[in-house]
Amino acid sequence: MAEHVVGIDLGTTNTCVAIVEQGVPKVIPNKGGYRTTPSMVALSESGRRLVGHLAKRQVLTNPQNTIYAAKRLIGRKWNSTAGRTVAQTCPYTIAEGPHGDIRLKIRDQVYSVPEISAFILQEMKMIAEAHLGVPVEKAVVTVPAYFNDNQRQATKDAGRIAGLEVIRIINEPTAAALAYGFGKNLERKVAVYDLGGGTFDVSILAIGHGVFEVISTAGDTFLGGENFDLRVMQYLIETFEEDTGVNLREDRMAMQRLKDAAEKARCDLSSAREAIVDLPFLHTSPSGKVFHLQEPLTQQQLEGLTEDLIEQTIKICERTLASAGVDRKQLDDVVLVGGMTRMPLVQRRVAEFFAIEPCKGVNPDEVVALGAAIQAAALVDEQHDLLLLDVTPHSLGIMIVGGYFHRLIEQNTTIPTRAGHVFTTVRDNQTSVKILVLQGESEKAAENELLGEFILSGLRKAPRGQVEVEVTFSISVDGIVSVAAKDLETGREQCITVTATSGLTEDELKELVKQSQAYMIELRASEELERRRQQCEKLIDSIRELLPQVQEAMSGTRFGRDAIAKAEAVVRRAEGELARADARALGDTLESLDRTVSMFRNVAHKRSEAAQR
Ligand code: AMP
Repeated sequence: MAEHVVGIDLGTTNTCVAIVEQGVPKVIPNKGGYRTTPSMVALSESGRRLVGHLAKRQVLTNPQNTIYAAKRLIGRKWNSTAGRTVAQTCPYTIAEGPHGDIRLKIRDQVYSVPEISAFILQEMKMIAEAHLGVPVEKAVVTVPAYFNDNQRQATKDAGRIAGLEVIRIINEPTAAALAYGFGKNLERKVAVYDLGGGTFDVSILAIGHGVFEVISTAGDTFLGGENFDLRVMQYLIETFEEDTGVNLREDRMAMQRLKDAAEKARCDLSSAREAIVDLPFLHTSPSGKVFHLQEPLTQQQLEGLTEDLIEQTIKICERTLASAGVDRKQLDDVVLVGGMTRMPLVQRRVAEFFAIEPCKGVNPDEVVALGAAIQAAALVDEQHDLLLLDVTPHSLGIMIVGGYFHRLIEQNTTIPTRAGHVFTTVRDNQTSVKILVLQGESEKAAENELLGEFILSGLRKAPRGQVEVEVTFSISVDGIVSVAAKDLETGREQCITVTATSGLTEDELKELVKQSQAYMIELRASEELERRRQQCEKLIDSIRELLPQVQEAMSGTRFGRDAIAKAEAVVRRAEGELARADARALGDTLESLDRTVSMFRNVAHKRSEAAQR
């Protein structure tokens, strides 16, 4: 049987899973029939894990125990700007982890960010398995093009915890371009403008006869719908404070309702000129006074509040065109991706900037997952005639004397790629050297992302400058960095691992994989219990329905009385097992119930035949 590898767009706001079936890429809907699933995780009061729509439905009443937009934090450090901003603005509790990473608290449980993403990926795995009827163990997962190594590694770890081998990480705009050009034999230069819930990316690609070559990419991993929501919320909070003197910032429940209403108004304003933000009973003061919020918001006001955010994306487009060496006039098409591109001002500014009407043929919510599925199919099925050439969004290098950044691999280099650097000792009898591996564009090492550091030891004692060690840095097709070192004198390879700070150690990861497997077993067992419970109840109902006919037909005979007594005993036993929620015993009882129903049906059938004669 062909291997089923799915494509997953793990989004800040929504997640989407797709697969190629008989050569056609398709989105797999979830149990509720929705084609995307909210990227939300919560714990109910009883400690039950809720993911997707179940989590979203209870967010207004349980904001402090519902995690959304975890993607904004994945692979980030506690002391990063992103960490601080989210901590100040979200209703859930975030704290520093043991490795300087970020941890999230839901009720009395503390989770790492990759774990939260893993819960979402696990949900997508289950959606795909329910659709395909077979286990799904591999996936291609997309990330924003501008994600750095730590963020990519953390996403891969999330897949591993979820029980999915992430066979390839691909960039979201590149995936979108794959879906856009798939099967069309195009020869075009396109820009993909991707503004989602949490991130912005733009890529310039050359597409030609099955080859998708990214020429350049740029973005901002902390710019998306969430920033737009914050602007609207700020406006509403300030207006409310002016009118009533009440500061809503400390009222968690009110803040969650405001966020929800801000996003809804924003979306409504994509197709209407005016929306009303209506939040009755928003706040109750300590003295018991109740406050309601009712505030009109026009499209023009929204544009005024968020225009500069859109301008930031346009500046990034300028930058990526410049580094691609491509003039706007050379572009044949602009593809819009991400829910935020439904905002009319975004569409207008993109059309103005690129001087082309953006392509309307793709669904901005699904195109990334479809592209991931296309890449997945191409990786497992060698028949596919498709080649993807992506680039690294960030330069890779090391820190050198004076705290400067020495680039070894330039940004926008096609991946996979590798580069070597020869180090020599700087002191006499130096036996070790410390290397800091960094990713970023600043000349100052401290301003770039530290991917890892290692000490190269065991060097021969010799006068300075005599011992040479070649360190090779490589970036895989997933955009993930690894490092190898070779003592040029002896030819001895040193094994070095740059521990990407996904926030988890290997031991922690192994433990989480185990926990996740145990959770799945428990979940399957509880699903099985539910299935058996429903079957039992249905069979008991049938027995009760048929009983009067059977009594009429058989109660006069001893055999009949025995059969009815036996049936009643089977029903009593089943009811006891239902009350005890004993799955194994229910399994056995199901057979007895089934036999009883068949026997009862038989008798009822014979009785009706006899009556007809
Ligand atoms: P994505 O990450 O692609 O799922 O995009 C989600 C973001 O798109 C969220 O911030 C949504 O509020 C936003 N969004 C979805 N639909 C619309 C719409 N009709 N108008 C404006 N923004 C939207």
